[in-house]
Amino acid sequence: MKLEDFPQDIKPFIIPKQEGKLVYRCLSCKTEFGIEELLYTCPDCGQLLLIEDLYFDRLKNISGNTWKRIFDYRKMLSIPQLKGVFRYYEFIGSMIPLESIVYLGEGHTPIVEASPIFKEKVGADFYFKNDGQNPSASFKDRGMAVALSYLNYLIQQNKLSDIIAVCASTGDTSAAAALYASYLQPHIKSVVLLPHKKITSQQLSQPLGSGAVVFEIPGVFDDCMKVAESLSEKYNVALLNSKNAWRILGQESYSYEIAQDFEYDLSNIAVVLPIGNAGNITAVMSGFLKFLDAGIIDQLPKIIGVQSEHADPVYRYYLEPDVKKRKFKPIPVKPSVAQAAMIGNPVSMPRVIHFVNAYNKKSGKQNVFVAQVTEQDIMDWTLLANKHGHIACTHGGESLAGLVAAKNQGILKEEESAVIKSTAHPLKFSGFQQMYFEDNFPAEFGIMPDPKLINTPVLVCPKDLKELPSPGTPLKADQFKIFIDRISKEIASILDLIKL
Ligand SMILES: *Cc1c(COP(=O)(O)O)cnc(C)c1O
Ligand SMILES: [Zn+2]
Repeated sequence: MKLEDFPQDIKPFIIPKQEGKLVYRCLSCKTEFGIEELLYTCPDCGQLLLIEDLYFDRLKNISGNTWKRIFDYRKMLSIPQLKGVFRYYEFIGSMIPLESIVYLGEGHTPIVEASPIFKEKVGADFYFKNDGQNPSASFKDRGMAVALSYLNYLIQQNKLSDIIAVCASTGDTSAAAALYASYLQPHIKSVVLLPHKKITSQQLSQPLGSGAVVFEIPGVFDDCMKVAESLSEKYNVALLNSKNAWRILGQESYSYEIAQDFEYDLSNIAVVLPIGNAGNITAVMSGFLKFLDAGIIDQLPKIIGVQSEHADPVYRYYLEPDVKKRKFKPIPVKPSVAQAAMIGNPVSMPRVIHFVNAYNKKSGKQNVFVAQVTEQDIMDWTLLANKHGHIACTHGGESLAGLVAAKNQGILKEEESAVIKSTAHPLKFSGFQQMYFEDNFPAEFGIMPDPKLINTPVLVCPKDLKELPSPGTPLKADQFKIFIDRISKEIASILDLIKL
């Protein structure tokens, strides 16, 4: 719709104004720093930063109802900069001018309701929100769109030129970073650090295809992360891991979309998501808190984070019921099919602790939970989801397994519906499905295929067929007829088809 055709009362709000005042705020000593420079940790105390809008309260001068109409009307716009996560501009990057915003099709991913038969199998009412349907096929595009729009803004202001943007990755961060950086040629060069042989070949192909410089490092993600941190501390590079607070801002859009998807009524909704480096759950809690503060939603949904027992430091931290006795301990990880969450020392842990406290306090009860699941359950539920019309990656399956665990432990109530985050596209992790179907998982995963879930192709090539077609050498007409008839007969016999 053209701007002039919008209703008079909403028209002045449709194109956002750069009215915010964003600053970095240290999570620990609360010191404030200007956003003109790239900061990842507090120069004073070394703690993580969050981005805060000092003028946030101005947003409360607009009623919650008006905000809902603003976001709903913005859906009808054809302005690319407002088609993605910046639909919620005032809550995301309220200082970045529209002309600096990079839009590659991120956000507004589908919410797909589970079928009746699958809901019955799971024992709960639920939806998948498919973040694999983002441009680089994971939710990481949400945060990268904001981090790179901000870098683009600095470039356009001549505050930066020729940036080398570095990230460590379990695969998806590097795919997203490389994609957005490649769009901003020639200003940004993307450099990614990946744990050698710990990411899938599909994920490796993504930054390579986007033209990034790809370094493979021995060890696991946690080791790569330390190298990326060291580079960003000692050299003039931009860090694109979720330590970068701009990424958290962009990932908050996931919560805003859920609010909009449910017409801003989040009563009896639980959001279930995997925890790896913990930027994701940080952003989801932060986003809902902001919408509550602005009066756009009037209750906070339940949050259920999920971890594999092969990489569960956050779960272990919250096992201790006494808040004062809780102590975070990094753990060594074991191989996990939820490979993008195979992290033993999550960088955003201090943010998680901060937001879990704030979230539970605002909710007036415990409203954030962490569930733990086995590798076997992750794989089985991933395959089951995909056999019922979904496109769940292993982390989507991990979340679904977490939903089942939460239901069994009474964390998820009868009347609640769950929104499950499938964080990436399953094609990125199809190798795990293959290992399951071929029953050749290395022992350390601890996964035994359930024969009922195995699916393998059937080669139809009857022995009595003498002549077979091959590329470049089609069969002659009479042979071709014999071939088609014989193959059809074979398939009909396998399927027990009834003759017309
Ligand atoms: C990054 C990622 C996660 C984990 O998210 P964090 O923000 O690191 O907790 C889960 N699933 C997929 C597919 C990812 O790419
Ligand atoms: Zn500080």
